[in-house]
Parts: sequence; C-alpha cells; structure tokens
Amino acid sequence: MLPMRIVPDPILRQKAKRVSSIGGSLQRLIDDMIETMQEANGVGLAANQVGVLQRVVVIQLPEDEEPWVFINPEIIRREGEREVEEGCLSIPGYRGMVRRSVKVRAKGLDRNGKQVRVSAEELLAQALEHEIDHLDGTLYIDRLVSRDQLWKEEPREEPQEAPADGEPVEAGRTG
Ligand SMILES: [Zn+2]
Repeated sequence: MLPMRIVPDPILRQKAKRVSSIGGSLQRLIDDMIETMQEANGVGLAANQVGVLQRVVVIQLPEDEEPWVFINPEIIRREGEREVEEGCLSIPGYRGMVRRSVKVRAKGLDRNGKQVRVSAEELLAQALEHEIDHLDGTLYIDRLVSRDQLWKEEPREEPQEAPADGEPVEAGRTG
C-alpha cells in the first residue's frame, strides 16, 4: 500500500505526464494503486495521489468485480449537468456538493496498452471526471456548487444492523 498524498501537498496541484511506455514498473504502480484504493475503501485513485506524476487512474465501483485501469485517459464527450455529493481520499474528513456531467464518454489505454472507450453515467462518470481532474491538478473543491457547499464529515454513527461490508454505496466516496 502506498502512502496517500493529502492536501496541501503540491503534487496534487501538478499536471501528470502522459505515459509513453507500458513496462514492468508501470504494472507494479498499477497493482500498488489498486491495492491502495481498495484498502482505503475508495472508488478511484489517480497516480498524483500516491506521489507519481503519470497519467494513470484506477476505478472500482462497489459492483465491479475487477478494477478499471485507464492510462492516458481523456474525456471526449460530456452530456448534461448535475449536482452531486463528493469526497476525496486526499481531502480526508470533508465532503462537498459539486457540479458534474450526467454522462461522459472517455478513452484511454488499458494496462496492456489496448485502446479502450467507455460510455459512463452515474458514479462511473463522476469517478472518471474526478480522477482525470486529479491528473490535471484539479480537485473537487475547485468545482463546488458554491463556496459554502463544503462541510466536515460527521463521525459515522453505529448502524442499527451490521452493514453488508465497507462503505455504503450512496456515500459516493470518489477517491
Ligand atoms: Zn480525489
């Protein structure tokens, strides 16, 4: 598991570089990022968040058996606009209301260097926008609906019944 970079770490504000070769060290980074994301109960992670300025993101929604890996990802189309609650592993203890697209179309390479395109909505679209923003040094707090729409997370109360496992899905912890 890699140490998480936390605001105001300047690497979170830097632009990551395009990956030019997909070799062993990149595969190892991807594996470490996946493990770090899963350990932190995050939905996604960008390389900046573990101190690496390369354009790599991993995403795993609660319903995904396998994580998505995107190298050099780009959003090629955005549709609609919605307001949604969001958090970030690099900004622990806070949540905010941000503006995101309803649907996005993205492209990139998978971990084998094969071109992939994905049409996404809901949490996957939100995660793609959030993680690709990280690669450009942008954080969700830059996209708040308004400046007062950022708040400290309440300490989680003990649920009446045992939760299934991990974080509740509706929390939308994007990573
Ligand atoms: Zn984040």
